[in-house]
Amino acid sequence: MSKKVHIIGSGFSSLAASCYMAKLGYNVTVFERNATVGGRARRLEKEGFTFDIGPTWYWMPDVFERFFGDFGKKPSDYYQLEKLEPAYQVYFGVADSLTVEGTLDKIYEMFESEEKGSSQHLKKFLKSAKDNYETAIEDLVYKPGVSPLELVTPTTIARVSQFFSTVRKKVRKNIKSKKLIQILEFPVLFLGAKPSNTPAFYNFMNYADFGLGTWHPKGGMYSVVEGIKTLAEDLGVVFKTHANVQEIKVSNGKVSGLKVDNEEIESDLVLSGADYHHTETLLKKEYRQYSESYWDKKTFAPSSLLFYVGFDKKIENVEHHTLFFDSDFDKHARTIYDDPSWPDDPLFYASFPSITDPGFAPKGKEAGVFLIPLAPGIKDTDEIREHYFEMIIGRLERLTGQQVKKNIIFKESFCVNDFVKDYNSYKGNAYGMANTLLQTAFLRPKIKSKKVQNLYFTGQLTVPGPGVPPSLISGKITSELIQKTRA
Ligand SMILES: Cc1cc2nc3c(=O)[nH]c(=O)nc-3n(C[C@H](O)[C@H](O)[C@H](O)COP(=O)(O)OP(=O)(O)OC[C@H]3O[C@@H](n4cnc5c(N)ncnc54)[C@H](O)[C@@H]3O)c2cc1C
Repeated sequence: MSKKVHIIGSGFSSLAASCYMAKLGYNVTVFERNATVGGRARRLEKEGFTFDIGPTWYWMPDVFERFFGDFGKKPSDYYQLEKLEPAYQVYFGVADSLTVEGTLDKIYEMFESEEKGSSQHLKKFLKSAKDNYETAIEDLVYKPGVSPLELVTPTTIARVSQFFSTVRKKVRKNIKSKKLIQILEFPVLFLGAKPSNTPAFYNFMNYADFGLGTWHPKGGMYSVVEGIKTLAEDLGVVFKTHANVQEIKVSNGKVSGLKVDNEEIESDLVLSGADYHHTETLLKKEYRQYSESYWDKKTFAPSSLLFYVGFDKKIENVEHHTLFFDSDFDKHARTIYDDPSWPDDPLFYASFPSITDPGFAPKGKEAGVFLIPLAPGIKDTDEIREHYFEMIIGRLERLTGQQVKKNIIFKESFCVNDFVKDYNSYKGNAYGMANTLLQTAFLRPKIKSKKVQNLYFTGQLTVPGPGVPPSLISGKITSELIQKTRA
């Protein structure tokens, strides 16, 4: 009889792992505590409006192609993908914005008009970003993080110095325009740390941004979740929602089963895609690998305050993805990473998917998602949320030159407390553990438990890190490691 693999959680990493494990011939069941699968990438539907609750940027389409390709499929077998033109817009002040177009030629033009000579520097910068991207994909991110040696190849050795410089230094070396610097430093925010604390090598995210482009799956990121779930079910995976895992059972140092909603079930192997810290709390103390002080010392990616808003009219002067960088990022970043507190004057991001995908809002109306990055673990109350909502709606009105407040039909919010309540997230982090130098590759929490046989981990707190593409990769490398090392 084929071995029983039980997967905790149904985020992208668990979904991906479920497909690989089923393809390898295991009997796979996924247990998800929420009503729907997708983890942080769930969907909210209200009064004819649709919102992606979590991720909204579809970057690195090659990783999705590679994932589906592993099963003889293509993304287009499951969802329709459109390249966004323009990719996004960035506001720096009242009626003062730059638009990042969908082609490199147009991006070079925009750089040149903002700072003479900058397009030449950008070309060089992007060449190194592309080389780094290729190295990352070929030599680094698909490695299981078991040993430092797995990272040693002639190509990576040639790039070692880039791990000891930072993205911030690399960007600022030749580009002087503050606005262009902000645009070039933005992509590493996906990795969860400040540009000044992110190795220069990670400028490959700039190639992901300008070189590979920003895409939109019709129906949003949740369509991708649905696509992978369909693939998994076709491979024989069983999904159980409203299934809260309360305990991981160990017998003679080996996983023996799970307690799910007070029922005990036997497992041959357990793979958890729930937040790593939470998964360890499902084990008796002697089987945990990392102490509370270990987690406390780590640099976590930000939490977020999010609003999902239905407007009764179309919003003007914004794009599908619009960034509001009209305040001091360094000050805001200090409140996230150095002195956890609410920012006085935060940057924020807004997404209006109904601009390009009419399915997101009733005709003539607009769906808006707003996100403010925050320090994990800070106090979260309704009053504070309301204060920030007023602040960002006021800024949206002022910067884009229109009134929208009176056009709000409804708003829903999501913040630190919800991340903890809905996902068992450590300190309410939104997207895992940051990719700093000391939290890269083999320095991240391990995929394979050192204390319990046949217990494995996947997801944004282990390798390779935060984001939807890395989560898909995490599911793959965990499954490969299981195949090699399971008892
Ligand atoms: C607001 C936000 C915006 C983001 N934006 C982007 C973006 O634009 N682009 C991008 O690429 N990435 C983005 N990310 C990051 C990306 O969404 C995540 O990195 C990725 O979805 C994480 O997947 P995962 O599999 O690691 O975990 P998760 O999605 O967190 O899945 C873990 C699952 O485990 C379940 N679980 C926890 N405990 C238990 C238990 N005891 N029993 C059963 N189930 C349990 C949880 O309910 C959850 O469903 C964003 C994240 C957030 C939150």
